[in-house]
Amino acid sequence: MPFTIGLTGGIGSGKSTVAREFEARGITVIDADAIAHSLTAPGGAAMELIRQAFGGNFITSEGALDRAAMRAHVFAAPAERQRLEAILHPMIRAATTQAADAATSPYRILMIPLLVEAQKRDPAWRTRFDRILVVDCTEETQVRRVMARSGLSADAVRAIMASQATRSQRRAAADDLFDNEDETLPLDTRVGQLHEQYLDAACGKTAATV
Ligand code: ADP
Repeated sequence: MPFTIGLTGGIGSGKSTVAREFEARGITVIDADAIAHSLTAPGGAAMELIRQAFGGNFITSEGALDRAAMRAHVFAAPAERQRLEAILHPMIRAATTQAADAATSPYRILMIPLLVEAQKRDPAWRTRFDRILVVDCTEETQVRRVMARSGLSADAVRAIMASQATRSQRRAAADDLFDNEDETLPLDTRVGQLHEQYLDAACGKTAATV
């Protein structure tokens, strides 16, 4: 398997910003959230299974998943959440693997916001990655950046954060930690340094397997 990085971080940590810098260097970034959204968009591959499992109540008139209704439905019902995840997770996994296999860059990045959470449920996730890169900042910075980006209240941002892994759980899962508070060097310079390391490691892995 070509050299693969798992990129993760809490909401507002700066994952997408870091990912864009890798893309600017020609690296394929596969965005698991975007794939999940496309599976549940109108006509998405998961929609028929969701209709069979949950009926039409959670489907918009356009044929997409009604996220707000489904969120409310699964919020206090773990068994229902598991039923939804049993449909979506294997499809997301298959689609990300397919996209990763199609990548031609020297290494590729799978951006998975809830990677640490997924790994906790299924440790086999770890075998998909050569390195796990965690983008990290303080919780105060997360709240401030997400409020500025989305207009959500501080409480709403904190509620989302409370549903995610903790900062220390993510840091513990990291092979490489990208400190997104550190301003001693510009972000793109620091991404460039990691990129060089990953190119070397990818090159070493290819040499070892041919
Ligand atoms: P995520 O994808 O992890 O949710 P984003 O990359 O969208 O986070 O970053 C959240 C917000 O913070 C965005 O508006 C982004 O422009 C801003 N941001 C990210 N990194 C920095 C940084 N180092 N300095 C200032 N703002 C940043």
